[in-house]
Amino acid sequence: MSDRELYCDTCGGVQPFETPPCADGHGVDCPELLCTGCGSAVLIATFAFRPARLADRRRRPSPGRHAA
Ligand SMILES: [Zn+2]
Ligand SMILES: [Zn+2]
Repeated sequence: MSDRELYCDTCGGVQPFETPPCADGHGVDCPELLCTGCGSAVLIATFAFRPARLADRRRRPSPGRHAA
């Protein structure tokens, strides 16, 4: 339904991506997109996850643990 054009590493260029049938209940907010050129699935994390948590963690480097 909601097609969008993104750069595909496999295709080596910009390809139209489409949202695959989501089995996780994300609905229209599903972060997964499927390349219509090669069929590779990509995750679009930026529009699915809010940066609030990341920003909060970034304020404290927590020196006792090694960042993964
Ligand atoms: Zn999904
Ligand atoms: Zn592709």
